[in-house]
Amino acid sequence: MSPRRDQLPYAGKSDVGLVRSGNEDAYLISPPLFAVADGLGGHSAGEIASQVAVETLERTAPGRVDAKALARAVRQANAAVIAAAETGRERTGMGTTLTAAMLDGTRIVVAHVGDSRAYLLHLGGLQRITEDHSLVADMVRHGQLTEEESRYHPNRSVITRALGSDPNLVVDTFEVDAAPGDLLLLCSDGLTSMLTDAEIGQLLVAAPTPASAVDALVARANDAGGQDNVTAVVVRIDAEPGRGTRAASRGAAPREREDGGRWLGRVLWTLALIAAIGGAAWAAWAYARGQAYLIDQDGYVAVYRGVPGDLAGISLSWHAEDTTVPVDALDLVTVARLRAGLRVRDLAAAEELVGDYRARLATGTPDATAAP
Ligand code: MN
Repeated sequence: MSPRRDQLPYAGKSDVGLVRSGNEDAYLISPPLFAVADGLGGHSAGEIASQVAVETLERTAPGRVDAKALARAVRQANAAVIAAAETGRERTGMGTTLTAAMLDGTRIVVAHVGDSRAYLLHLGGLQRITEDHSLVADMVRHGQLTEEESRYHPNRSVITRALGSDPNLVVDTFEVDAAPGDLLLLCSDGLTSMLTDAEIGQLLVAAPTPASAVDALVARANDAGGQDNVTAVVVRIDAEPGRGTRAASRGAAPREREDGGRWLGRVLWTLALIAAIGGAAWAAWAYARGQAYLIDQDGYVAVYRGVPGDLAGISLSWHAEDTTVPVDALDLVTVARLRAGLRVRDLAAAEELVGDYRARLATGTPDATAAP
């Protein structure tokens, strides 16, 4: 008989949220391997991308707990997503984040790309293990935005590194020494854009089991608005016999593996960095191309590809279509959203919404409920 869900030292949960029509997140529980992926791309491409990523990761994951080997598996997942994008229709520009962890007693290795996150609740305090590959995270690092502002920024979902575009993808790796009883959390941005780190920490501390922790996290994200798909995986760190005492005395300072002491290492690292910057710009561009938004332009609804506003002076938007739909004739909520730029999944969704506005005008009912 299999153990009940709340008796296991790990649990995962994924929910569509309250706004999106499909769930493009995926997660993997295959001890000692755990992962979360958040897909992007129009139609069902994002869903395919995150699925392909976690399935390939599970198939190619190393037999031993090693950060470099785990990063290699993430690069294989990247190759698989690129291959899937090339063979499928309407999948151009599809991609996915991937945050993967493997555990060996209290030792945790993490390989990471994108804006999903790994956290460790270490001795009751929440520590972020990964760094987001997103434009708002770059802006926070450069002091242009506070952490709190980044959670509400209209372009918070633009990521600078993802699986599915760059064959030479750079994968971040981390190694953490945890303590028995610590909790490892992997999650998609649908959780972290809805809840602060402080709220996440409180929920983890209060939860008696990993199963109740993921339930509480997902429920709270939906209570806060459920703007995005939300996914959480929680793993309780248990010391293996004979290892616990030594591990418990160690700290949980996350550290990046990269130490390149030899000059050759430094040269290669510099070249990789140059490639990464180029790749990041390209990934952001490719991602933005797949997106769309509607905006009030001189009193009429206009359709654009990309994302509204600009980031650090860079515009990622392209004019697609002017319409004859007057903004004033729509309801107040829609008018306000159109002023700021109303983001939709893709160009097809934009067309659908314009058609919906036209239908509303024809019947003379300004109805806010049809807005995504
Ligand atoms: Mn997301």
